[in-house]
Amino acid sequence: MKNELNKILASQPKYRLKQIIQAWFDVDKNSYEEITTLPLELREELKSFPWLTVKLHSIYKSKIDDTEKALLELADGNLIETVLMGRQNLKEDSEAGDRYTICISSQVGCAMNCSFCATGKTGFKRNLTAEEIIDQYRFWQRYVSPSYQEGVAFAMSSGRMGGVAEARQISNIVVMGQGEPLLNYDNLKQALNIILQNTEIGPTKITVSTCGIPKFMDKILEDKEFPQVRLAISLHSAIEETRKKIMPSHTSGFLEYLVEWAKKYSEVITSRSHFIGLEYLMLENFNDDEKHLKALKKLASNFSRVRINLIPYNDISTGKLKTTAREKIEHWHEELMKSSFVCTIRHSQGQDIAAACGQLCNKVLEK
Ligand code: SAH
Repeated sequence: MKNELNKILASQPKYRLKQIIQAWFDVDKNSYEEITTLPLELREELKSFPWLTVKLHSIYKSKIDDTEKALLELADGNLIETVLMGRQNLKEDSEAGDRYTICISSQVGCAMNCSFCATGKTGFKRNLTAEEIIDQYRFWQRYVSPSYQEGVAFAMSSGRMGGVAEARQISNIVVMGQGEPLLNYDNLKQALNIILQNTEIGPTKITVSTCGIPKFMDKILEDKEFPQVRLAISLHSAIEETRKKIMPSHTSGFLEYLVEWAKKYSEVITSRSHFIGLEYLMLENFNDDEKHLKALKKLASNFSRVRINLIPYNDISTGKLKTTAREKIEHWHEELMKSSFVCTIRHSQGQDIAAACGQLCNKVLEK
């Protein structure tokens, strides 16, 4: 955690940090001064501290769906993307109000350089700190709160506003923004644990997406402190030669490794509600023929609990890659369902506001 914060708290009892962290997640609190359970002197000392480590640089609202994308500025001037995706609740559950999924980043830029990904084009800058990961959640938490929406941005609201304050909630988090989360293992782990401890979000409501880093996938199997969140592997092809071409991070033998790893994973995490996600970006005439479909079925049949997510490609104008036609994606979907796999087609939100991760950052950086 913040070194300076640790310095200030060095002479304080241990529970002070817990009090501070709890206050971070209270949308009615917007400064350290408002944490009245802390001694006055400590509150004074904390004044020099930014309440949020991210600052809103710009926000883009989709005109076609309930998606908003924010560019956040970090203390060192770097920019990261984070997305809010609305999901209206089913009618029978209308009491619960609106639910949102947020997509958060784990690094500034990314070193993986996947050829279909806009973030990779800028290269890797640095890991996000645990606070910067947490603060993307805190940013949206305040953003959806009624006091912000009424224009009293980050100001203290005069108490909770009946049912309304509870009506807009972030219910899911996907770590699918910029960066490779497993390469920022310690900060990611700390941030997710703090979010889990201080919100009502449960571990199965959080998905961490990775291009697959064996060293850290192994670590997850042994690390009792790594939260039991859902994991999604960006597969994109069950044929090694194809995968290698678009994912430079691919290590030979990864597909065999993945099958073995998944077996161990299902022994470690025995909960029935857990499954491994396989993400499959559909690229025309590249990984979308019958040979690739057969290979995917064969690979996926080795997993005891698996969900396949077919992703229409958001064109980032590389000129080389194109998305597969909708009918063909639907054909794959049907075929996979016929073979008894749980399979979904990702509904791409925010098409008009640079939907693919990294696209928005690049646009602003180009300017
Ligand atoms: N590095 C991690 C997380 C970031 S990418 C990973 O590789 O999983 C999150 C997801 O978005 C991945 O499944 C990735 O393949 C997908 N993605 C990246 N660029 C995309 C694009 N242009 N169109 C559609 N999906 C994309």
